[in-house]
Amino acid sequence: METIAIPTDLLPADGRFGCGPSKVRPAQADMVAALGQTVLGTSHRQAPVRSLVGRVKEGVAALLGAPEGYEVVLGNGGSTAFWDAATFSLVRERAQHADFGEFGHKFATATDRAPFLGASDIRTAPGGTLAVCEPADGIDVYAYPHNETSTGVVSPVTRIGDGGALTVVDATSIAGAREVDLAQTDVYYFAPQKVLASDGGLWIAVVSPAAVARIEEVTASRWVPDFLNLQLAVENSRKDQTLNTPAVATLVMLAEQLDWLNENGGLGWSAGRSARSAAVLYEWAEASEVATPFVAEPAHRSPVVGTVDFDESVDAKALAAQLRENGVVDTEPYRKLGRNQLRVGMFPAIDPEDVRALTACVDHLVERLG
Ligand SMILES: *Cc1c(COP(=O)(O)O)cnc(C)c1O
Repeated sequence: METIAIPTDLLPADGRFGCGPSKVRPAQADMVAALGQTVLGTSHRQAPVRSLVGRVKEGVAALLGAPEGYEVVLGNGGSTAFWDAATFSLVRERAQHADFGEFGHKFATATDRAPFLGASDIRTAPGGTLAVCEPADGIDVYAYPHNETSTGVVSPVTRIGDGGALTVVDATSIAGAREVDLAQTDVYYFAPQKVLASDGGLWIAVVSPAAVARIEEVTASRWVPDFLNLQLAVENSRKDQTLNTPAVATLVMLAEQLDWLNENGGLGWSAGRSARSAAVLYEWAEASEVATPFVAEPAHRSPVVGTVDFDESVDAKALAAQLRENGVVDTEPYRKLGRNQLRVGMFPAIDPEDVRALTACVDHLVERLG
């Protein structure tokens, strides 16, 4: 491949557009260095790291507007571990899932395969469209992604069913970048390597009193491995700790990003920033002769994960490769989706002007790749 050099005045100031891990702001990395001889390398059972965990819990509750009585719980293993933890510790007998992409599908598969649960009720929709949960008999957990990262489809967040059942929302790639009413959810969980611009390896969940009661009931009624036992996670989180050793640098970067978002105006501000980036990307794609937003329904287009299809005159794979050669990275589509597409992270850490610059870089390359 011959590299097409993009003129430097077209390039974004920061070329990281990945959907997780995503752009880390330099100030966050600076804070890791600043705490390099005090907090890093010290016990997670002592004050410096515990107060960091406390800061994360408070920052999450403030940013997302946790209702009275809701708790912030965290543990190791990322959102993927949380699926297994929820399978063991939250579902009583049977779950219903909305599956409209890889991530929703993985959680649905986890509960469906659990030998101690009934077969899951899975509502599917083709890639690029939305599936929603609907009240049904015998369901005690309704689960759906707030944002399906593999396709760039965003879902409304509403409670499903009445009484008894829990609404469990995978907000891994959107928590902190879209307004949400957590009173509509019992569990709103995510990981820090997307909107919160930190590293992976943790899961964080905002849980309702009903979810806490369910965790206590279910974990008392069957064998649950400690690592997947949410009762232990709740008890540790109340003491500003995790069951086992966390990555301290991840907590530092996470706390920094939470402060940055909260100090700049909180959820409204961060959601506005992602929405501005999304408007730039989708308006550009709609006006383009070769690109179209993959998600046909404008209301379902994600404000944080933009997917753009190209017609056959453009090889999107070559486009992503050329961008990468120019330092503009991670615009490749989700690997299993198999489309002629670019996927663009538009998290609050990413400057909307950099998204605009990215579109100019794509136009520049399309003219020359042709
Ligand atoms: C990235 C992602 C996950 C997986 O997160 P890990 O922390 O890597 O396990 C799960 N769900 C959604 C919606 C995601 O975007």
